[in-house]
Amino acid sequence: MTLPCIRGVTLDVDGTLYDFRTMMRAGFPGLLFLRRDFFDLFRVRDGMRGLGPLSDFRAEQARRLSELRGISLGEAQALVEDMVDRRWPRVFARVKPFRGLRHVLEELARAGLRLGLVSEYPIEPKLSLLRLADLPFAAKVCCEEVGALKPHPAAFRAAAERMELPTGEILHVGDREDSDVAGARCAGMRAALLGSGRHILSTRADFTFSDWDSFSPIFRMHFQATGVAGHES
Ligand SMILES: [Mg+2]
Repeated sequence: MTLPCIRGVTLDVDGTLYDFRTMMRAGFPGLLFLRRDFFDLFRVRDGMRGLGPLSDFRAEQARRLSELRGISLGEAQALVEDMVDRRWPRVFARVKPFRGLRHVLEELARAGLRLGLVSEYPIEPKLSLLRLADLPFAAKVCCEEVGALKPHPAAFRAAAERMELPTGEILHVGDREDSDVAGARCAGMRAALLGSGRHILSTRADFTFSDWDSFSPIFRMHFQATGVAGHES
């Protein structure tokens, strides 16, 4: 039996490159202090899931947040910038990527596979603070930039375009079924789900894995990984 061919791998950032709970502990007590603000922002963004692409994502997000909180548009914009662009990224100076992640990505890159990132939040400077910015990512797509959150296929398609690969030859790896797996499928990509527990039983992903140390053998069991440059893994 010939295995399907994969030439590129895209990854989600939050919860996929690092452990979300460790990040929350590293951000304690600052992020805890902002808990209500984050909760409201997540609520607004959940309401925007399925919309798009919007021409100005941040403006629509601020409009909805200002309505929810009963604050001015300017205050809502400033609140988002303070949380998402300033306070949250600072925490990453004290967060490490998942064990085994760098090794897997280096191995994939050495085999000639193209790498990409598809995240709902701005990717820089998290990537630099996680000390992963040196890896050869051919695409870094933030959903805000294309105006549509996952599972809308816009960000996945934008990544495939920048990686110069058909979506069918890309495996997307993420930690959420409803956004990562659903979005990748919608864009025509293959999908892998990082996780464990009951929720993986009903996944539409091609495979699941519980930690990055176990990724490579499971990946090779399901796919033939072929480098774009012509050399195979
Ligand atoms: Mg995630």
